[in-house]
Amino acid sequence: MHTIAAISTPNAVGGIAMIRISGDNATGVAERIFKPFGKKLSDMEGYTCCYGIAHDDGRRLDDCILTVFKAPHSYTGEDVVEISCHGGLLVSREILRTALKNGAENAEAGEFTKRAFMNGKLDLTQAEAVMDIISAKSDLELKIAGELREGAAFKKARQCSESLMKILGDLAAWADYPEEDIPEVEPDKLAEELKTVRNSLFSLVENYDAGRILREGVSTVIVGKPNVGKSTLFNCLAGCERSIVTDISGTTRDVVEESVRIGDIVLRLSDTAGIHETDDVIEGIGIGIAEKMINSSELIIAVFDGSCPCTADDLNLIDKIKNKKAVAVINKSDAEQLFDTEKIKGNNIPIVYISAKENNINELNNAVQNLFRLNSDIFSSVPAANERQKRCIEKALECTHNAVNMLKNGEFLDAVTVVIDEAEQYLLELTGEKVTDAVVDEVFSRFCVGK
Ligand code: GDP
Repeated sequence: MHTIAAISTPNAVGGIAMIRISGDNATGVAERIFKPFGKKLSDMEGYTCCYGIAHDDGRRLDDCILTVFKAPHSYTGEDVVEISCHGGLLVSREILRTALKNGAENAEAGEFTKRAFMNGKLDLTQAEAVMDIISAKSDLELKIAGELREGAAFKKARQCSESLMKILGDLAAWADYPEEDIPEVEPDKLAEELKTVRNSLFSLVENYDAGRILREGVSTVIVGKPNVGKSTLFNCLAGCERSIVTDISGTTRDVVEESVRIGDIVLRLSDTAGIHETDDVIEGIGIGIAEKMINSSELIIAVFDGSCPCTADDLNLIDKIKNKKAVAVINKSDAEQLFDTEKIKGNNIPIVYISAKENNINELNNAVQNLFRLNSDIFSSVPAANERQKRCIEKALECTHNAVNMLKNGEFLDAVTVVIDEAEQYLLELTGEKVTDAVVDEVFSRFCVGK
């Protein structure tokens, strides 16, 4: 494999920066750009490091520590050299540029991990978990990503795959050598074995949605007619003066976005123009967006002004959100209360009282946590980490389920074999043991350069 190089540390100033070089010629490239003190680089063994000077044709760049990893005992499974220098943006770029001048090629996004996958150091679910570890935003998220990196999903998929292989082997032996003394395949026993596989696969997808909420957050929209306190609430949740708060109706014209954390849940918040009838063209556009977002968001925070009686616009909003995942927020609880909440009741929507102005939003926080309750029990089994994994498992699950039904209906074992084989193919796609280049490219395109 050609030798690649990239800066693996963030594109920012820090204590240390690290340039990673991987490939057949990693040591050769390093020898041309690094002068070790008291050692010969080619004599260095794997897992050893030395102090020296990185240079460009003798021009000193920085004093560095160089670490050597020898194939296959490295992250990528190839020869790897890592040069740690001072954490300035320019110095690390200079060293990378010199490595490129001396035989290395720029690594693409995720290429180090892609090579680890290609060289059998990681299966595809473990490779994906590497990116999940990097982007984890909560302890629980990190824990799940860590378990996936350790191969939790791979091991489970492997177990299922091995069970299916055994069943396929039995079926093939029985079909191919009927005259030999091979025990007859019993459909009932086969169905039981398939059910065990089905249960295992089910446990991998059942908590997917909870895991996804944890990873990606909940898309949330704050709606309500003008002046009810949407922007004040948005700012209160976001903890900063991001949207414009005024007394003039309709000042929140655009959609402003922010992520906020409530317990374990991240809300991806949008604050929109108020929903009400208007002749103002610009604001009208914003209102159109708000209505669309009501339909596309996973959580709607509908704000009403507790200090005013309920109006036709409020009733209209109640109508739009009923039976959706929504919280009715009666704001301005610090003022005299004139809003009649009877109009909201009976729509399956929790009603909470807050004062955004006084930062008193506890009831809203509790209601949101109840709506998206993430019971830590549900993470006792590791869920699928992304849509790709979920799709593979669901397909395998569907095939296994069909095979069980086919056996129940007394269908030919040949036909059952075809369906079980299909399930097996989906599991191989999940782990990356049998996967198209397009899928692999898609997985690694989401990585950052240097990983
Ligand atoms: P929006 O048009 O819905 O975004 O409303 P704003 O957030 O701009 O607020 C409109 C007005 O209501 C401003 O004068 C706010 O100070 C006021 N307001 C917002 N929240 C509260 C609250 O909890 N109590 C009271 N008394 N006034 C509030």
